[in-house]
Amino acid sequence: MPEKPVEGECVIALDVGGTGMKGALLDRDLTALRTVRRPTPRGAGPQAVVDEIAATLLLLARQAAERGLAVRRAGVVVPGIVDEESARAVYSANIGWRDLPLAELLEQRTALPVTLGHDVRAGGYAEAVRGAARGARDVLFVAIGTGISAAVISDGHPLRAGGYAGELGHLVVESDGAPCGCGSRGCLETAAAAPAVAAAYRARTGRAVEGAHQVAVLLAQGDPDAHAVWQRAARALATALATATTLLAPELIVLGGGLAEAGELLLAPVRTALAEQLTFQRQPRVVRAALGDEAGCLGAGLYAWQAVGSGLAGAVAP
Ligand SMILES: [Zn+2]
Repeated sequence: MPEKPVEGECVIALDVGGTGMKGALLDRDLTALRTVRRPTPRGAGPQAVVDEIAATLLLLARQAAERGLAVRRAGVVVPGIVDEESARAVYSANIGWRDLPLAELLEQRTALPVTLGHDVRAGGYAEAVRGAARGARDVLFVAIGTGISAAVISDGHPLRAGGYAGELGHLVVESDGAPCGCGSRGCLETAAAAPAVAAAYRARTGRAVEGAHQVAVLLAQGDPDAHAVWQRAARALATALATATTLLAPELIVLGGGLAEAGELLLAPVRTALAEQLTFQRQPRVVRAALGDEAGCLGAGLYAWQAVGSGLAGAVAP
C-alpha cells in the first residue's frame, strides 16, 4: 500500500530533455501538485542549459513556498551518459556537456539538495514502480524518440555500469548502414529513431513528412512506402532486442518514447520480427509504456523521495 501523503511536504522533479524540460512538485504519493514545462535552450550551449535548470528548480521552489509546502529534495534527470554514483553528467551529444558535476553545481545555485539521474533509467524505474513493468524483475525499458536508449532492470536491480549501460541505440543492426552521430555506422538509431524513420520516408518517396508520427498515420492509411519504411525500422528494432534478449533475458520489454505512441502499429511487427529471431531464449512479452512522457519526471521524483528515505511500496532499488 502506498504511504498516506504527508501534508505539507513535496519534492521537485525535473526531466531535462533535448528540446524541453518537464518539472513538477510531487507529494509522497507522486501526485503532481504543480507542473511546469519550459524549453531547453541547448542551442545556447551547456552553460545556458545549466542556468535554465537552476532557474526552473528555483521557480518550482517558489511555487512550493507559496503553497506552504516544504521541499525535501530535488530529483533532476538528464540525457546522455550519467554517473549516478558520482552525480556527474559525463557526456551528452545532444546538450554538449562533458564531465559536469551537475548535482553539485545545482546545489550551489539553488541551495536545494539534488539527486542526479539518467532520464531513461528514471523512466524505466517509474514504469517498474508505477507503470507497465510493475511486479517484473527482469525488464528492458526502451525509449524510442530522437535517439534510442534503454534502461535495464536485472534480478530487480537497475544496471548502471558507471552510466554506460543501456545504449541500445548504438548496437549495430545494419552492417552497411548509415553513419551514426556516435561515429559508428548502421547503429539502431540510424534505422529506427524517429528522425531516421521520417528521413527514410523522404528519401524513398521524395515527399516530405513532419516526422515519424506522420509516417505512422500514412501506414495506417495503407501507404505502401510507409509500410516498407516502418517494417525496416521494426526489423532493426527487433534485431537489437533479440541481442539484448540473448544477453539479458528480460521477461518484459517495455517500449516508450515518441515512436511507441503508435501503439500496436509498432508493437505488432516488432513482436513478430523478434519471435522470428529467437530460438531457445525466454520469449519476452513486448508491451507499450504506461506513463507516456511523464515517466522521466516521475522517476526523478522517485529518486528524490528514495534519497530522503521514503521507501515506496513495490519499488525496486533505485
Ligand atoms: Zn551510434
